[in-house]
Amino acid sequence: MEYATIKIEAETDGGPGGSVLVIYTGGTLGMVFESRKGQLVPFNFEQLIDKVPEICRLNQDITFLSLKEPIDSSNIAPEVWIELANIIARNYFHYDSFVILHGTDTMAYTASALSYLLEGLSKPVILTGAQLPIGVARSDARENMLTALELASARNERGEPMISEVCIYFNSYLLRGNRSKKQESSDFDAFHSANYPYLAKAGVSIEYNLPYIRPFKGRTSLTVQQHLDPNVAFLKLFPGITPPVVKSLCHIPGLRGIVLETFGAGNAPTAPWFLDELQAAINRGILIFNVSQCDGGRVSLGRYQTSRQMLEMGVISGEDITAEAAITKMMYVFGKSGKVDSSKLLAQEMEGEMSMST
Ligand code: ASP
Repeated sequence: MEYATIKIEAETDGGPGGSVLVIYTGGTLGMVFESRKGQLVPFNFEQLIDKVPEICRLNQDITFLSLKEPIDSSNIAPEVWIELANIIARNYFHYDSFVILHGTDTMAYTASALSYLLEGLSKPVILTGAQLPIGVARSDARENMLTALELASARNERGEPMISEVCIYFNSYLLRGNRSKKQESSDFDAFHSANYPYLAKAGVSIEYNLPYIRPFKGRTSLTVQQHLDPNVAFLKLFPGITPPVVKSLCHIPGLRGIVLETFGAGNAPTAPWFLDELQAAINRGILIFNVSQCDGGRVSLGRYQTSRQMLEMGVISGEDITAEAAITKMMYVFGKSGKVDSSKLLAQEMEGEMSMST
């Protein structure tokens, strides 16, 4: 991949805001309306300072790095996640923090994937985007970007970063990345985190929700896992789902894992054909991860008769994980080299993506 970079230097030497690497991947935030084509197209990032002159007042050393061909986030792929993680790793000791400008459509997937890939992260990585392009008068892009930059450079009294995990900042709220979901395609409050409290709220001042923020682990070194296994699939249940649908998905050649999107607290039909198909898939070595279709609450395998057999056959509970964090967790776990107990890793909390039932 190729990149274009621009730099904004802090007015004061080594500006109090520290140094930030901003990685622009694409999405609405950086788009302009091209009347000739009648559509939104990526804008030339060199015009950024014209669009957001306030950025110079943050007193940070900011380097912007843009993918040569910014993408709509619907085209994001595991290779891009690994590339983003590698960009962060290559620049890890040159910058105090990282901000990723990303389309909103798949931002929760990218944030989840990065939370696993960036092993040992102890600096802020904040993703943000916008519902309206930066050039539009009512755009949310300026506020989202400026506050994400401010959050990225926030330090406590010991000089440690306030945030040292992968987050999404949007519409006044900082959320844990692997707990976030895009909930809204029109209003400005595009993201929510139903099962985990917000990490910070930006009003007149920024209020941090300290008990819920991952503590700073000290200046650790960062490593990036270089492989994500895409041989995973979602199976979203619906009343009336037919045997051929379930059968064909379970027989996809090379498939290693299924995120089973179940009803309520992890429930599914008890029809013998359905349970037999799941059992046969498990016997062939396919892991099944049970995630609820409800945004809030958790999977509670065995609570109802409609989930007890799944518990007995070895379906793994996704607890209160989001579908986005579940599918990327599978890609990450299956991407590990050497002998690993994938079902054990899936069942346990790795990067704050799920809370275990007691
Ligand atoms: N389609 C755009 C994207 O996700 C939407 C957005 O940026 O909000 O890339």
